[in-house]
Amino acid sequence: MNNLPFDKPGAFYRGNLHTHSTRSDGAFSAVDVCGRYRAGGYDFVSITDHAMERYGFPITDTRSCRGDGFTTIIGAELHAGTSELGNLWHIVANGLPLDFDPRGIATGQEVARKARDAGAFVTVAHPAWYTLSEADIASFTGVAHAIEVGNGVAGAMQDRYDSWYIADLAFHRGHRFFITAADDFHGQPHRREFELGWVWVKAAENESDSLVAALKAGHYYSSSGPRIHHVAVTPGKVVHVACDPADLIVVTGTGAQAAYTTAPGTTEADLDIRRFDSTYLRVTVRDAAGRRAWTNPIWV
Ligand SMILES: [Zn+2]
Ligand SMILES: [Zn+2]
Repeated sequence: MNNLPFDKPGAFYRGNLHTHSTRSDGAFSAVDVCGRYRAGGYDFVSITDHAMERYGFPITDTRSCRGDGFTTIIGAELHAGTSELGNLWHIVANGLPLDFDPRGIATGQEVARKARDAGAFVTVAHPAWYTLSEADIASFTGVAHAIEVGNGVAGAMQDRYDSWYIADLAFHRGHRFFITAADDFHGQPHRREFELGWVWVKAAENESDSLVAALKAGHYYSSSGPRIHHVAVTPGKVVHVACDPADLIVVTGTGAQAAYTTAPGTTEADLDIRRFDSTYLRVTVRDAAGRRAWTNPIWV
């Protein structure tokens, strides 16, 4: 199964899939948030306000922010039921109908299923932020499309940006998800939470339906800085990577398996995977500033 975006038709569009406005606990209006992302060089944003009773279950309408090469995806962060450790679930849904109604649903899995059935790309948000368990992640197999492995506000507030550990365990056990990175921008003062994670989606056009279809097909990669220009896998032999100048390019798999180069400023590498015994691979690129880019897992 090769979902890599690089040889797919279309163009790459950069977007943030997870952010909040004054419709829930964000500091800026939806129009201001869209303007901020547009000015930041993004092609699209999805405002995902907390669909909770205290905010009136908002599905924020951002259609007025579309135009001139910028677009929006209607979304929400959904909450129902609790994780193993007793926290309310956080599920990001991108590509919801404006009349989506999450009320009266008892579990996180059910609200995620309803969003998926309504056409959305569904992500288990920030596992590290509230210490989701392996069983928690496994319970979304076949329900959520992706695990959010990078979350800006979780890093800003709690030093828990990175959820790769639980994602790798899920992949090792055979649970198939894509991954995302996002800001979860709220715009609160004294928190750096802008431009910390985004996706590059390879889509036919920069338009919501096209972007959501590409996300569901896995035709994207995630980044907090560098770009990945190409990845090609010859199973059992080699992974070819072309990217922005990197101080680390690494292919990882189950357990400690890794093939890497650490020559500073590398833009192209052929990494030997002949000794790998892993059902999946993934590629990470890290630049001199420590910013990273990640492919989705590649099932081999
Ligand atoms: Zn959340
Ligand atoms: Zn959020």
